[in-house]
Amino acid sequence: MRRQSARESSARTYARTLPIVPVRARGLTIEGADGRRYLDCLSGAGTLALGHNHPVVLAAVRQVLDSGAPLSVLDLATPVKDAFITELFRTLPPGLAGRARVQFCGPAGTDAVEAALKLVRTATGRSGVLAFTGAYHGMTAGALAVSGGAPEVQAARLPYPQDYRCPFGVGGPRGAELAARWTESLLDDPKSGVPLPAGMILEPVQGEGGVLPAPDDWLRRMRRLTADRAIPLIADEVQTGVGRTGAFWAVDHSGITPDVLVLSKAIGGSLPLAVIVYRDDLDVWQPGAHAGTFRGNQLAMAAGTATLAYVRENGLAERAGRLGARVMEQLRADLGGLACVGEVRGRGLMIGVELVEPEGTEEPAFGAGSAAVGRGGAEFLDHRFATGPSGDGAHGAYDPSAAASGRKPGAHDFGAAPSGGG
Ligand code: PMP
Repeated sequence: MRRQSARESSARTYARTLPIVPVRARGLTIEGADGRRYLDCLSGAGTLALGHNHPVVLAAVRQVLDSGAPLSVLDLATPVKDAFITELFRTLPPGLAGRARVQFCGPAGTDAVEAALKLVRTATGRSGVLAFTGAYHGMTAGALAVSGGAPEVQAARLPYPQDYRCPFGVGGPRGAELAARWTESLLDDPKSGVPLPAGMILEPVQGEGGVLPAPDDWLRRMRRLTADRAIPLIADEVQTGVGRTGAFWAVDHSGITPDVLVLSKAIGGSLPLAVIVYRDDLDVWQPGAHAGTFRGNQLAMAAGTATLAYVRENGLAERAGRLGARVMEQLRADLGGLACVGEVRGRGLMIGVELVEPEGTEEPAFGAGSAAVGRGGAEFLDHRFATGPSGDGAHGAYDPSAAASGRKPGAHDFGAAPSGGG
């Protein structure tokens, strides 16, 4: 039979070079049409909190199918939707749970980001949004405008703190302090010319930017800074949510309460679902102000309810924290000495291995990431680079124009593995 995928657009990217035709999947494993079994490191781009085809997810989906319930219900209230909202609210940060509204936004994370941006703009009557270097929020126009990699975008220029490639060259708490002060002075210095923004959007752990966990103190500082100036804080947990970082939501580590939480990927139990949860006093929508066709997918809600409940009841977030610490320890022991490995970092089971040029310059190894995770990855690591200590220190001063111009490397450039994001 002629494979029709040859007719698919060349925009197809995930696993493009992998010679696998998946026909069955269970847990961590995918079975190819060739009968071979593969360990799935793509993890549905972070949608598979319980792995492929977990029995509780399948049972929940079957139950909806067998009950004869409508599969698409638009904005109507249903028992399936009620169950999802009830379970979601059980998991929310306590400061938000008591006074939150939820809005179903459409199938994708980027839809929820658009809704969040529109909500804070509508609620404040202001327009600008503060965003950070290396940020990734989606592929639609508004989400791209607050993402860090797009060269044409001027918005996402505030320094996101990181140790290994600290924009100020110092790392640690001092680097985070300088990053926080940069943002504060932008808002407080009249000469900066930056009007009071409609919101700030951040990822508690940047995923696509290279698996960069934000320090808890910096997050608390951003929370104080925005609260003091009545700027709504949007936490994008599309990739970090549902236990992956060792807490149910990554903001739980720092204890901050965002004004808007953006959720997708794993909340649908591998089916398409995206919501925003936000402080009720921000609920300024007029009826019809924000609509969309695919907001009532009952299969996704049922799969999501089962997933959220299973993660909560079985303490899977804590487990991800414990396992993540062990995985990182082992990765550091096994890979830390390789000249091509700049840093192993992460939070919980959201872990990245940064690949750099082996000369000890800390220059990102462009292309090496995709080569390493693609066909022959192990061979690549074995033979391409000699082992030896990685060099230290080639930290440049913070240059936001470099970041905004797209010269900052992204995860796809220097290889975040295992590649649970996407
Ligand atoms: N926000 C974050 C933090 C993400 O990681 C992603 C997807 N990688 C998105 C938003 C966009 O989600 P989607 O691809 O479902 O539109």
